Amino acid sequence: MIVIPFYDLLALPEVTCYFQADQLEKLSGKKITAEEDVIFLMTREQKEPDELTPEDFYPVGVAGHVEEADHDGWVLLTTTGRVNVSDIEIDDKGQISVEAVLRPDVEDISEEEKKDRFEKMRSALVQVLQGTQLTIGSNLSLKWNNMNELVSLTSGLLHLTNEEKYRIIEEDSQMKRTGMMEKAFYESLEIYKLQREAQNAQQKNNEKLYREDAIKKQIQFLQDQLDEMHPENVTDIRRFEKKIEESGMNETARKEAEKVLNRMKQEGQDSHEYGMLYDYLDFVTGLSWKKEKNVPIDLDEAERVLDEDHFGLKKVKDRILQQIAVMDLNKRQSGSILLFVGAPGTGKTSIGQSIARAMRRKYVRISLGGVRDEADIRGHRRTYIGAMPGRIMDGIRRSGVSNPVVVLDEVDKLMRDYSGDPSSALLEVLDPEQNNTFTDHYMNVPYDLSDVLFVCTANTQDTIPEPLLNRMEVIRFTGYTALEKAQIGRKHLLPKAMKEMGITPDMLTITDAAMDSLIADYTAEAGVRGLKKQIDTLCRAAAVKIVREGSMPLEVEKDQLPKLLGRRPMRHDSVKEKKRPGIVTGLAWTQAGGEILFIETAFTKGSGNLQITGQLGDVMKESVQIALTLVKQLYPEHTEQFEQNDLHIHVPEGAVPKDGPSAGITLTTAIASLVTGKGVDPELAMTGEVSLRGDVMPIGGLPEKLMAALRAGVRRVFIPEENMDDLEDVAAEIREKLEIIPVHTVADVMARCGLK
Ligand code: ADP
Repeated sequence: MIVIPFYDLLALPEVTCYFQADQLEKLSGKKITAEEDVIFLMTREQKEPDELTPEDFYPVGVAGHVEEADHDGWVLLTTTGRVNVSDIEIDDKGQISVEAVLRPDVEDISEEEKKDRFEKMRSALVQVLQGTQLTIGSNLSLKWNNMNELVSLTSGLLHLTNEEKYRIIEEDSQMKRTGMMEKAFYESLEIYKLQREAQNAQQKNNEKLYREDAIKKQIQFLQDQLDEMHPENVTDIRRFEKKIEESGMNETARKEAEKVLNRMKQEGQDSHEYGMLYDYLDFVTGLSWKKEKNVPIDLDEAERVLDEDHFGLKKVKDRILQQIAVMDLNKRQSGSILLFVGAPGTGKTSIGQSIARAMRRKYVRISLGGVRDEADIRGHRRTYIGAMPGRIMDGIRRSGVSNPVVVLDEVDKLMRDYSGDPSSALLEVLDPEQNNTFTDHYMNVPYDLSDVLFVCTANTQDTIPEPLLNRMEVIRFTGYTALEKAQIGRKHLLPKAMKEMGITPDMLTITDAAMDSLIADYTAEAGVRGLKKQIDTLCRAAAVKIVREGSMPLEVEKDQLPKLLGRRPMRHDSVKEKKRPGIVTGLAWTQAGGEILFIETAFTKGSGNLQITGQLGDVMKESVQIALTLVKQLYPEHTEQFEQNDLHIHVPEGAVPKDGPSAGITLTTAIASLVTGKGVDPELAMTGEVSLRGDVMPIGGLPEKLMAALRAGVRRVFIPEENMDDLEDVAAEIREKLEIIPVHTVADVMARCGLK
């Protein structure tokens, strides 16, 4: 007898079925031969055959015998009836032996009814299985002979526990057993049906989605082809859909853009709203939303580019190279923002352009001149009619990239009024901690400015709001000496102008004397903007001459300049005049650089009145009062002159805005010269604020002032002692040619001028 242990299946009587021989042999530990008796015995747990113990078996089994053995690896078994099993033993080969006694059924159901109920069960199963790929049992033929066969062979699919299955085997009443089998069978069938329905629904849903996607792709493909054939017919909506798709916008921006696009779809093309929505989408999709790749920086190459574009400016270039190196290491703008301060035409903006070229980045210039409204920087909310983005985002969009070099021009011309403070908005733009989510009101979504390199320019730092100035590192552009200008003219401005006008080097030359005269007699400036204009004019005139007269090559001499430029040389405020009491040469600073100015004083018969002419500002009028008091203190013996005369002070008209305290020492000296009747050397110029105690105090703009002094023919200059450190910023050429004398007190100045 062969005992076959099994788990979680149902073995029932009256079942005929093929089994795999090797499987049965493995389970029973015995070779299966024909005509042998078998007992199927159910275990309580799932165990490997060699781990089984007698206690693992349930006490009721099913007996049968082998009909055929080794039928191509299969054996045919038939079960007969149930048995009570006892005395279970397992030997060391794993073979099980038992005592078995037949356990008869209680036959309380008729054959007819059994058959009937079996047929119902079968047709239910057949119905469910139809149209599916499911197969049951290895030899599925749907030809079960009775309910026991059907249930046994599908028992792996029943939703019953191992123990519940055993309870069926154990049940003596055939009626009850049939009921239990039906219950388990129909329940499992229902569960299976439900699962299949759910699966089908899911599958249908998926199929619908796949189909939808496929159709969409098809439409897109056809639409693209049509668009290509008729680009003129591409609708705005389609174009924007595509642009939004391709732009790489962040999530917030994309949502906003899609919202606007949906509104656009609802608007008619002629509505006012449509235009606004169009402009918005055009703007945001025109921005670069992608992070630009970092181009590796070659510092030597960057230095070469800076040198190629600009002459001189050594200190400025060194500082720029440092900034570039730091940026390369940090991969972002860090530390302070560079602020270039200097007179117009000193190269501030154009060096910004060179920085971009040196870093191989795009360049944009954003002018802040006249900005008075926060909305100029940050944009208008779209609820306004005619709302626009602010200048910053507008500039970024013009650059077409997300990491341009942006030159913010004229930060000193920012104004402030009731409608908000533009400088605080600008502060946010420049702050690396905040500018990665800069939100322009018009765009209404954040944009990352952290890859942008900002550089600012200004003519003066005096009018820049303090918090803004604190974020910046000031780099001074002090202007160029005549020698430097000649070099810039020759090496940069002239070749550029000639190239623009199609004049080749063999057609035109300008003599050194002519170039010097251009600088000295036709321009008066710290920068080279005027010089550039004159050179451009000269080249245009030369072009006409070359074309008309065929005079080639043309050499421009100094004396041809008036004709070619169409103007006479400027008359300079020169210092060639003779010494005259009451007149002293002073130095002034203006936004265009330095200037010399003459302070003239005269007495007229009167009674101590003071008259001031020359459109002086309030500060300068105060300086006059201080100067008067000082002179009265220093020259008590002359005070009656002030009582018997009216004093007239005049600062001759000129382009120079006459305000600021730095003329204090000049005014004092002029009045002293008048009262003492002694003239002061006109080739001596001076600058310095004075205090009532008689000290000479420091002033600003020293390099520009000294440059102007030299240009005007001054030989000696008095400067406040405390300004001596600033001489570092003054070109060596100027320091050599001028005799620069530090002065500490007014009395000292009087002595040096021979007035005491
Ligand atoms: P700023 O911004 O200071 O007013 P720009 O940068 O506009 O001055 O310069 C005016 C012109 O002068 C530009 O054409 C510029 O190329 C030229 N320029 C200024 N400085 C130099 C220099 N050091 N070398 C060559 N060209 C210069």
